[in-house]
Amino acid sequence: MSFNSLGLSDALLKAIDKKGYTVPSPIQEKAIPPILERKDVLASAQTGTGKTAGFTLPILQLLSQGQHYRKRPIRALILTPTRELAAQILDNVKAYSEFVDIRSMVVFGGVNANPQIRSLRNGVDILVATPGRLLDLHNQRALSLAKTEILVLDEADRMLDMGFQRDINKILALLPKKRQNLLFSATFSKEIKKLASGILYHPVSVEA
Ligand code: AMP
Repeated sequence: MSFNSLGLSDALLKAIDKKGYTVPSPIQEKAIPPILERKDVLASAQTGTGKTAGFTLPILQLLSQGQHYRKRPIRALILTPTRELAAQILDNVKAYSEFVDIRSMVVFGGVNANPQIRSLRNGVDILVATPGRLLDLHNQRALSLAKTEILVLDEADRMLDMGFQRDINKILALLPKKRQNLLFSATFSKEIKKLASGILYHPVSVEA
């Protein structure tokens, strides 16, 4: 299996090549095709499996194929439990989007919100966020999720462990009902299954 046969654009293949990846990892091989078909995906994957590229690459492809918006509303939201993970995901998104016209940024708590608020004003296609700061910024009307087409819950088990269930529910209520949902988790407890069944619509299940 090669990245070529996954149906990714030349611009993304160029970025993958620059990263030095030669073959897709198992989770990438399994998750990329259904995501490109706009299906909901439930993925069982640990850190280190290449899951970040597994959701980022097809999201970049879908957004760059899609409608062009002058003001760049948030079209994809990636939720993750910690600022370290959020920063890492943004690094990945930036690397893979080098050759496509997609803007991305990260917001997380524990730092001054004002620079984040200013950056959001310029428009952003992909937002990586921790749940609490996302809600703070929404409450301050610094962002809107009304045009969000794709939601990723990354490390969903850790988000629940860290007590983000209520924040996640509040965020879900801010998103359009019709959207694509991708849920990644290392473990599948009863709580995760419940969260997944409340969010995902006829999901394709994949395992790393
Ligand atoms: P992740 O599981 O997303 O945190 O990725 C783990 C590491 O694997 C990161 O350092 C990625 O840069 C790297 N990686 C992701 N996909 C591939 C691939 N197809 N080939 C080689 N390395 C990869």
